[in-house]
Amino acid sequence: MAIRTGKQYLNDLKSTDREIWLGSERVTSVVEHPQLQGGANAIADYYDLHHREAGSMVIQDPENGEAMAASHLQPRSREDLQFRHQALRQAAELSMGVMGRTPDYMNATFAGFAQDKYRWQGPEGRNEAGYENLCNFQRRLRREDLALTHTLIQPTINKATDGNFADNPIVPLHKVGETSDSIIVSGARILATLAPYADVNTVYPGMPLPPDAPDEYALSFSHSMDAPGLIFLCRDSAASQASAFDAPFSSRYDEQDGYCIFNNVEIPRSDVWINGNREIYNHVMMMSPWWPNIMQQTSIRALVKLEFAYGMTLMMCEAVNDTSERAMELLGEIQHYVEMVRNALVAGEANPQVWEDGNVTCDPRAIHPLRALIPQWFIRVNDIIKELGSSKLLASASRAQLDSSELKPILDKYLPGAEDISCEDRSAVFRLAWDFVGSSLGGRNELYERNYLGATRMNHMMSQRLHSGNNQLRGKALVEKFLAAASARGVQQ
Ligand SMILES: Cc1cc2nc3c(=O)[nH]c(=O)nc-3n(C[C@H](O)[C@H](O)[C@H](O)COP(=O)(O)OP(=O)(O)OC[C@H]3O[C@@H](n4cnc5c(N)ncnc54)[C@H](O)[C@@H]3O)c2cc1C
Repeated sequence: MAIRTGKQYLNDLKSTDREIWLGSERVTSVVEHPQLQGGANAIADYYDLHHREAGSMVIQDPENGEAMAASHLQPRSREDLQFRHQALRQAAELSMGVMGRTPDYMNATFAGFAQDKYRWQGPEGRNEAGYENLCNFQRRLRREDLALTHTLIQPTINKATDGNFADNPIVPLHKVGETSDSIIVSGARILATLAPYADVNTVYPGMPLPPDAPDEYALSFSHSMDAPGLIFLCRDSAASQASAFDAPFSSRYDEQDGYCIFNNVEIPRSDVWINGNREIYNHVMMMSPWWPNIMQQTSIRALVKLEFAYGMTLMMCEAVNDTSERAMELLGEIQHYVEMVRNALVAGEANPQVWEDGNVTCDPRAIHPLRALIPQWFIRVNDIIKELGSSKLLASASRAQLDSSELKPILDKYLPGAEDISCEDRSAVFRLAWDFVGSSLGGRNELYERNYLGATRMNHMMSQRLHSGNNQLRGKALVEKFLAAASARGVQQ
């Protein structure tokens, strides 16, 4: 099939009968549902973008020479990383980074998985069949140009006992049976962003299993969205049916998130990548190339969103001629976050790490800190926008008010911007900012930034546990050098 058009994507989405619930309604057509169609159209735009920007977003499939999205590229050099950067940036600019899980996210993930034979196949090829299934899936993904969602995390039921699977055997996803050509699974997983818009759901490890968890919990596979017994509960919609002027983001870019329930779902063995092998399950993600591979995609998205946030905040200030020292200070602060992310990407791409089999990712040391820091920076940026925006975020005219011949002259007189800025231009920028930080979608997006690569607190702890080797050696060596010098001085004095 090569590269789908937006129209083909929407037609494919129309033709599946999936069990998607929004409130108490079972959705019959994602494409036509008033609260879901904006997101479907945004993903259709993503597909069309590949046709408009084919030069930087489309490459040849190395196996059959057909066109495929550049986000499927398996980087083998610095130049590959830099080429992929341009494609990922264009995808991010579609929603200015507000949609975190456009299909390029999962394309890059699976390109990296299929490259990582070393971990997925495991020691002495113990998971050879699972790895082969994974590679077949990645081939299908790029050839059919699918949109994926993913569910990695076991839901929280009881914080005190969740780590002990013996006390919580039902909810964490696990195998409940087998046939000669399939496995049967039950349980739940959070939180499938893009669920209503995806062609396929994928399950792979988020965290290692607790020590007491039986092998039945060590599972990784894919399944079609219409698999019998599979249920997605969408969160309350953050989509707005207002005009693009009134709700520039939420009228189109709510990517949705679904709680995923597997109620005796049959998974063909050919779609299973890990079947009860705890060793593989616990090691394919930890300390693996997955992190620096996917961090390139997520950091590029975050960079676009931070650059946009800076531009939007600057225009908010210009709209009311705010040149105060406080405004300069806060604008400068956002710029620093922009430049930190840009620098990490430049350094990460310029000094790639070469993994087993010559596979290449950004330098983990350059890019890994962003995993915990970007969420904090976004929370801070949202706070800055609220401080500088204050009541102006709410005191803005709507499209209908601006179109009213009765109200328009009054608005132009009593709600203009500074200098020559019209009421319409002032309202456009403050409405944009409110939809970015304060609307229902704005609130969801902040929660997304906090959690989309795991909780911030966990990410700091993970760095300390897993990635601090070189820094510990260097840091301790400096302390010892200083103490030795101090001790020598003490003797001389
Ligand atoms: C908008 C949104 C979209 C998402 N999209 C997806 C998706 O598409 N696919 C997917 O698989 N997941 C997705 N997630 C889930 C996301 O991966 C999790 O929210 C994240 O990993 C945190 O897990 P949790 O929500 O269970 O919170 P918890 O793990 O309960 O964390 C809550 C708090 O407890 C702390 N904490 C947790 N465990 C420990 C511990 N062992 N020791 C000390 N402190 C701890 C955390 O630091 C955090 O502060 C999404 C989440 C959100 C909010």
